[in-house]
Amino acid sequence: MASHGASAQIYAPTTVEDWLYCPMYRHLRRTWLPERVEWDPARLLGTSVGTGLSTHWRHVRAGTAVDTPEYWATILEAAVAPLRAEWQECDLTLGGAEKLVSRGLAEALAAGLDVGAGVLRVDESIGVSRPDLIVRKAQSLGGGLEVWDVKTARSLDARYVQERLSGYDTLWQLYHGAWEAEQYYGEKVIRCGILQVILSPKAQALLHPVEMDVTHLGQWLQTAEQVWQDMSAEERGSRPVTQRYTSCEKRRYGRARCEFHAACHTCFLDEEKMARLYDRRVQ
Ligand code: SF4
Repeated sequence: MASHGASAQIYAPTTVEDWLYCPMYRHLRRTWLPERVEWDPARLLGTSVGTGLSTHWRHVRAGTAVDTPEYWATILEAAVAPLRAEWQECDLTLGGAEKLVSRGLAEALAAGLDVGAGVLRVDESIGVSRPDLIVRKAQSLGGGLEVWDVKTARSLDARYVQERLSGYDTLWQLYHGAWEAEQYYGEKVIRCGILQVILSPKAQALLHPVEMDVTHLGQWLQTAEQVWQDMSAEERGSRPVTQRYTSCEKRRYGRARCEFHAACHTCFLDEEKMARLYDRRVQ
């Protein structure tokens, strides 16, 4: 098992992914809100699918999951609740969104994710990460843990599905989740993976397992420790916040390029000018 020897602070995977994208991006996001854009339901659709699956997995863990129409109706109700609570006007109706979630959830439940000898954890923090699902495999299958996360795409053309799945092979979040699960349970993680749910043009759900090799995970940890130290040094002011120009034009969170492009390349980080384009976060 790869163990952490350094005393540096450990940062959550999403924070590290922001920092790896660009240290200045992470720095600006802590103080400024991104440029206002039209509300996009993609994130809420993902939350809904994830809520439906989590609700079902918690029933599996409690031994209360049953295969009846009434049970599946309650799972769907749980899934669409976040949609109904937070829906905003956009290019999709609430009814249309509920249909997408219903179909996507049905595909996800039928995708064949084997919960093995038992569901250990469902969308709960371990350390600073929060995997969607941790299961223990049966001893007859070699034992060990599996860590899964769910990703939902509102729309993904068939031509780009394989590229999306292959991108998960090096997803920081998976390695971090595997490492923290090993620390927490004192057991080896044999596999991590992504359950990719696609809502349109055709509802489908695909399992993408990523085998965890002990050498590979150890190498990830070595890199992670250096990254955490660099982030910590930056927060203490003993290392400057650098700009990563190779990321400025890269897509992020559904935007065609970095949402702080104008801050860096029009305002040159002058806060007075930035205040005309961005709102400060309420601290
Ligand atoms: S515009 Fe470029 S340098 Fe500025 S925060 Fe974004 S990625 Fe970093």
